[in-house]
Amino acid sequence: MSPVRPRIAVVGAGCAGAVAAWRLAQAGLAPVLIDKDLTPGASAACGGVMLHALYRRLELPPELIDGEVNSLRLFSGDRCDRLEFRRPVFINFDRCRFDGFLAERAVDTGAQLYSGCRVTSWDPETGELSWGRAGATESELFDQVVFADGVNTVGRVAGIGIDGDTPMASAMYRELVTEDERSHEVDFVLDLEDEDPGYFWVFPKHGLVQVGVGRFHGERREPLRRLLDRFIEDRAELKALECARTRGGGIPFAVARRLGRPGGLVIGDAAGLVNPITGGGLVYAEASAEMAARAIVESAAKGWERGWAAARYRRLMVRSVHYWWLKSLGLVFRRIRRQVALGKRTDFKRLFLFYAFVLPRLTPAASSITLAMREPRPVRRSMRS
Ligand SMILES: Cc1cc2nc3c(=O)[nH]c(=O)nc-3n(C[C@H](O)[C@H](O)[C@H](O)COP(=O)(O)OP(=O)(O)OC[C@H]3O[C@@H](n4cnc5c(N)ncnc54)[C@H](O)[C@@H]3O)c2cc1C
Repeated sequence: MSPVRPRIAVVGAGCAGAVAAWRLAQAGLAPVLIDKDLTPGASAACGGVMLHALYRRLELPPELIDGEVNSLRLFSGDRCDRLEFRRPVFINFDRCRFDGFLAERAVDTGAQLYSGCRVTSWDPETGELSWGRAGATESELFDQVVFADGVNTVGRVAGIGIDGDTPMASAMYRELVTEDERSHEVDFVLDLEDEDPGYFWVFPKHGLVQVGVGRFHGERREPLRRLLDRFIEDRAELKALECARTRGGGIPFAVARRLGRPGGLVIGDAAGLVNPITGGGLVYAEASAEMAARAIVESAAKGWERGWAAARYRRLMVRSVHYWWLKSLGLVFRRIRRQVALGKRTDFKRLFLFYAFVLPRLTPAASSITLAMREPRPVRRSMRS
């Protein structure tokens, strides 16, 4: 069969969508990248910490880095554990600039950007995708739609992606203006007052420090805003700082049951691809985007048979370590959700500490699964306050 050039739409210009569009454009498929924001990244909410390895894989320019992180402090009760690495394992960055860069690169490579377009519906039978732009409704026909539109994915109405039954967490943060340029260290504090699974974080940025809280949805609900403000108020080094930005969002905690159907597939948060222990999803957004792009490119090279790309994407996913790792964690977190609903205590704290300190040391496989990076061996130090 001779190669064909299908018409492809990528919905959502976040990390997953912009990477998928970039890869498709590199293969000469000129996708349309559609985002509800006028400027991609304008409303992005993210802690802005990613693995150094991902930064290299994404071929990002050094200007996007706010700091290279080689030290993690983990607070739990009266205990503080410090993980130090000989080389940086994470980078600190600003998510709005990051999304803006990825979208621009996709466009420079050959993708077409429709900005300020909120996708409202998709008809899987005809391939018609509709969106609202400046008060008017527009629609076009596409052979393949890649949904990378996050937790409220439009794919859901066609039965793909996360649904109402997916365990969810919420997170919010404030960015406080500071002159402290300490940027090599990030803090996690595992003590939520209401004992729901979750943690506070303190991530330094350039001229800012981001202080946030993420929590699994549960019954014992003190508003996140109140938890966060009390956390800031209790810390002398934070409480006097001026707040420059407050943001938040939802985080899915289990892989979607259906990742695709003929003509459509879901990637990133829309597919529920997030590590529920840390709430980190950028690694999986990138990995799923690569797999989706590969499936579509292969399908086009074979002459394009409707449904082949979605089936191939699913096969690539189920062969990947990411999928099984997140699937297993999803089962654990469905149990945690039941415990929370019944008002029982959960083992989240112990799970987090096991994940951070023990698992990466067990075997090289565990190390690469947790993506704690094999290269620099962590040095652990514990102390009691
Ligand atoms: C507060 C918070 C902090 C986090 N911190 C980290 C972290 O430090 N490190 C990490 O790895 N992960 C973190 N995560 C998770 C991470 O942000 C996500 O896993 C990641 O952003 C997923 O990327 P995505 O492209 O799939 O989705 P998103 O980043 O959500 O992108 C979705 C895109 O789709 C667009 N969109 C949405 N709906 C529509 C529509 N109907 N029509 C058109 N466009 C639409 C949006 O504008 C957006 O650009 C955090 C999440 C939250 C909420």
